[in-house]
Amino acid sequence: MLLYRLGPEGFYAVVNDEGEQRWLFSDPLETPPAEWQMGRALEGDPRGLLAPVVAPSKILGIGRNYARHARELGNPVPEEPVLFLKAPSTLIGPEAAILLPPESEQVEFEGEIAVILGRRLCRASDDEARAAILGVSCACDVTARDLQRRDATFARAKSFDTFCPLGPALLLDPDLESLTVETRVNGELRQRGTTAEMLWSIPELLAYASRMMSLEVGDVVLTGTPEGVGRLVEGDSLEVEVSGVGVLRNRVESRWGG
Ligand code: ZN
Repeated sequence: MLLYRLGPEGFYAVVNDEGEQRWLFSDPLETPPAEWQMGRALEGDPRGLLAPVVAPSKILGIGRNYARHARELGNPVPEEPVLFLKAPSTLIGPEAAILLPPESEQVEFEGEIAVILGRRLCRASDDEARAAILGVSCACDVTARDLQRRDATFARAKSFDTFCPLGPALLLDPDLESLTVETRVNGELRQRGTTAEMLWSIPELLAYASRMMSLEVGDVVLTGTPEGVGRLVEGDSLEVEVSGVGVLRNRVESRWGG
């Protein structure tokens, strides 16, 4: 089942495994999916898609979770997961523009599988972490690579406004062991990875992170990027596709309005 959030009101809708689309009356972050109350059917394809979560308390990133990506940036394969935070204000939805900030000469894409929490996790086991996942989605961990190299922390490089496109839907009950993520720029395949290639599995990452910080309902965890990261320039069309979720499309602009 897929969960969408639609504009302009930001109502939720679901598409079930038979392809039926219905409005969702329940708040998906407050009510477990088994108890969701469905409304009337939606006509046509979902329009005006928004990021599938609103105002997460945090967006947690994982660095170097694919060995070949660690090596392509000249980093050793880490002994523990590398955690960092992206500001919640980076979040944008499908079709929104990624804005290139004037402070960076090298903004890069990192296509990733995003996990959204449906239950709070604090010092959780792997099994508890697996059970706390509401769903997975497509994300891009947009990164100002030059600033990431220059700064002692990732805070600035990862947190410019618009640096976390997320969507177009949440896939509920994903098979975590066989997800794939692909990134295309202007239609050309640039990255491909599978959860089988991850150094740490998704439940292991969540359990590990929950020892440092409680993960709250609605929090977003970006699970790392496969090799093939590269630069974005004005006019690029970026697509991130996670199996079963759909395609997240965003364009790249350098216009910073007031
Ligand atoms: Zn990343």
